[in-house]
Amino acid sequence: MNILVLNCGSSSLKYQLIDGETENVLAKGLCERIGIDGRLKHEPEGKDKFVSEDPLPDHTAAVKAVIDALLDADHGVIKSMSEISAVGHRVVHGGELFSSSVIITDEVKKAIDKCSELAPLHNPANLIGINACEKLMPGVPQVGVFDTAFHQTMPEKAYLYAIPYKYYEKYKIRKYGFHGTSHKYVSQVCADMMDTPIEELKIITCHLGNGGSICAVRNGVSVDTSMGFTPLDGIAMGTRSGSVDPAVVLFLMQKENLSPSEMDSILNKESGVLGLSGVSSDFRDIENAENEGNERAAVALDTFAYRVAKTIGEYVSTMKGVDAIVFTAGLGENGGITRQVVCDYLRYLGIHIDSYKNSLRGQAIEITTKQSRVQVFVIPTNEELMIARDTKELVFK
Ligand code: AMP
Repeated sequence: MNILVLNCGSSSLKYQLIDGETENVLAKGLCERIGIDGRLKHEPEGKDKFVSEDPLPDHTAAVKAVIDALLDADHGVIKSMSEISAVGHRVVHGGELFSSSVIITDEVKKAIDKCSELAPLHNPANLIGINACEKLMPGVPQVGVFDTAFHQTMPEKAYLYAIPYKYYEKYKIRKYGFHGTSHKYVSQVCADMMDTPIEELKIITCHLGNGGSICAVRNGVSVDTSMGFTPLDGIAMGTRSGSVDPAVVLFLMQKENLSPSEMDSILNKESGVLGLSGVSSDFRDIENAENEGNERAAVALDTFAYRVAKTIGEYVSTMKGVDAIVFTAGLGENGGITRQVVCDYLRYLGIHIDSYKNSLRGQAIEITTKQSRVQVFVIPTNEELMIARDTKELVFK
């Protein structure tokens, strides 16, 4: 039983074909520049990589190109479409309507469309992907897995903003949180590694990639997270500001005569460690610049680590304690220096990092010494596997 996992962006489509029994990835790839010209990079397991520059005028063409690549005599991994048993879609925003993954029906599609207002760049693309699959794979069950679903367990005190309540009622303005699939996955792996039921643990998961969020997971459920109404809130990120005093936004708009979309672009695309350092949004470039004596690069890295540590501290008080901290995603998995600096702030919790273990890469590992009172882990995230598991569970249970 093979599950096709799709993550549709506005002009891109990432995919993996996963064997639902063994959980092996049979093939993965990426369609880019959909609607512009088109490029497909396909990586079949045990065969040569394949790149095509055939035009991809829309998402239906992209899904078709993916199916063709999977079926191809040379670089394919299956012989017939019937070998795709189900499709799992990453859907960014499920609003308050979805607290878990669901089989896609017409009703569900309407609800995803309704949430488009909350994620105008993502949900419409996710829906286009769903419709393209319905057209090309009629009868194959499809499942939606929402980035926001895991955080629907947050209590009111965590998700409400202290603005007039009528705006929550009228526009559903509240904290939703994102990266839920990743936080859920790594917290489960962490509990497995600790050989303790997740229902007995307080875990803080730090998803640190180009976008970043931190989540307080108590007894296996999300009780708070750093992203908010949108993925702009929380810690500083590659190009996103994270939290700022809301008055700064109004002040800047007035002073610089900025439109809402210009302000949006500054906060989403020109801020974060890019805005602070003036060097790059990529932490590797900023670390190199710091090593060459660039002071703003040093300030950017220090500000970033400070805010991560501060948020972890917040969640220790939210949960009245912590058993484990997990680092994941591009920077969380690879940035040993950042992990060390963050954990230096947390020494008061009795955290002791093993420098050798912290220097290792590419594996799920505990990086604290035996004396450490809180265990710290690096766990590679795997959102696609999580989507495949939920899809299998819903379709074949
Ligand atoms: P992601 O969004 O999860 O793909 O993460 C991408 C980010 O991870 C990049 O922008 C880099 O800043 C960061 N990253 C990846 N590899 C390293 C590394 N070896 N050291 C520091 N940062 C890294």
